[in-house]
Amino acid sequence: MKKIVLIDMDGVLAELGEGPFSENKNKKGFFLNNKPIEGAIKAFKELSAKYDCYIVSTPVWSNPHCWMEKRLWVEKHLGLEAYKRLILTHNKDLVKGDYIIDDTKNYGVDKFEGEHIMFGNQYFKNWDNVLEYLK
Ligand SMILES: [Mg+2]
Repeated sequence: MKKIVLIDMDGVLAELGEGPFSENKNKKGFFLNNKPIEGAIKAFKELSAKYDCYIVSTPVWSNPHCWMEKRLWVEKHLGLEAYKRLILTHNKDLVKGDYIIDDTKNYGVDKFEGEHIMFGNQYFKNWDNVLEYLK
C-alpha cells in the first residue's frame, strides 16, 4: 500500500498573492487567481506516482467563494492527478496520513498523526528539498 501524503494549499502549492491576507481573503477571485508556488505542480505530479496524495486546505469561513475557488484552482493547475483529492477542513488532524506538508502548525497540523514536513523552514526551503526527502 502506498503511504499517504497530505499537502497544504496556501503557501505550499499556491502563492498567497500580493498585499495583506486579512484584506484579500474575503475578495471574490482571490483564491482562484493565486499563482502556483515554484516547483509545486511538478512536485505534486512526481509525488503522486509514489504516494497517495491529497490536498488538505483550510478555507476562509467568511468567504464562501474561497471553497469553490480552491476546487477550481486544483482542476486548473493540477488536473487529473488531483481528481477528487481535495479535502477542505479546519481540523487537519482528523485526516489520516503518513506525512503532511504544511507551512504552519495551525488547524490541527500540530496534532496530526504522521510526520509534519514544515514547508519553508531551514530543511524544506522549497519543493526541491521536499522531493529529495520523500523520494
Ligand atoms: Mg498554508
